Amino acid sequence: MKFETLTIHAGQHPDPASGAVMPPIVLASTFAQSSPGEHRGYEYARTANPTRDTLEACAAALEGGAHGLAFASGCAATTTVLHTLHSGDHVVCGDDVYGGTFRILDKVMKPLGVTASFVDLRDPAAAAAAFRPETKMLWLETPSNPLLKVFDIEALCALARSRGAFPVVDNTFATPVIQRPLAHGAGAVVHSTTKYLNGHSDVVGGVVMTSDEGFAQRLRFLQNAMGAVPSPFDCFLVLRGIKTLALRVQRHCENAAVLAHWLRGRSEVRAVHWPGFDDHPQRALVRRQMALPGGMISFAMREGAAGTVAERTRRFLAALRIFTCAESLGGVESLIELPAVMTHASIPAETRAALGIDDGLVRVSVGIEAVDDLREDLAQAFGASA
Ligand code: PLP
Repeated sequence: MKFETLTIHAGQHPDPASGAVMPPIVLASTFAQSSPGEHRGYEYARTANPTRDTLEACAAALEGGAHGLAFASGCAATTTVLHTLHSGDHVVCGDDVYGGTFRILDKVMKPLGVTASFVDLRDPAAAAAAFRPETKMLWLETPSNPLLKVFDIEALCALARSRGAFPVVDNTFATPVIQRPLAHGAGAVVHSTTKYLNGHSDVVGGVVMTSDEGFAQRLRFLQNAMGAVPSPFDCFLVLRGIKTLALRVQRHCENAAVLAHWLRGRSEVRAVHWPGFDDHPQRALVRRQMALPGGMISFAMREGAAGTVAERTRRFLAALRIFTCAESLGGVESLIELPAVMTHASIPAETRAALGIDDGLVRVSVGIEAVDDLREDLAQAFGASA
């Protein structure tokens, strides 16, 4: 089956009991056993639930994985994946990751004895040098957040495997419409379903897809043992969101392309980060790895006539009428934010400064509204920020 068909049908059949075309939301926390230990595959809803099973099967199919495992949030998925490691293990991680992922590695895993190195994985020599004998996992987020650096999934997963490390790719920004990391050698793919997969900014969730039997078994054990599972209702909403994923991502990308080129021509903007530019330094890699350049843009504001760049950026954000200033991304509505103060505040100020995540860097999740309205809104807010 082709991708668009999988988004609508994978893992889903009319309900045998009623013929309902949409999967029922099974809210029961426990399931009847005909005699102790004899049941129809469901005992207790933390362990397994029919609505979650449907989402897990659908999500696995989208990434071409044999197994899908759903979690209560993207961070719950990340935390559970990292708990497959043991004290003394080391993780190589991209230097431009979601702030919450950095925080889990730095504040949750490090005290448990699992350390991490944060490296600009665009540099092959730096990437190779980061691996140590005790490195057991590579954590890759591409395009990266918020600077939209692009990393070579195939080369880095091959490097990780050659050093005995399990490669994991956070595919939240790209979605499987744009790239399928398992086909490029990743051992597992992680998503915050809060973003594009659900797509309507009304669920917090996560999912992990893998074809590695041993990893799937260990993760299934931890999913039940650690218990960070999603509610059946949220599983239903994500399943419903996924049905329009292909159409939505196409439109997100079209709108982002228009706005990225337009932003580049604005005198208020110093630099625009977007993987689709013809002069993007990794253009060949983008073409090879990504079917579309994505719906995320970030840009650096220039100082205005009065005050600092931080003050001007705040005036600009306050003047917007259609774009909502909010954390998160991937919903149908356009969101805009200041990573240094919002999504990436948990990254130490020196690290942020070294990466270029300053008070003038704005991140945009381009929605699927009429692009002319979005452009006009940005134009009037630039005018008000002068
Ligand atoms: N991965 C990426 C790339 C994200 O942007 C986020 C959240 O913004 C997460 C993971 C964490 O997901 P959640 O907020 O669902 O816990």
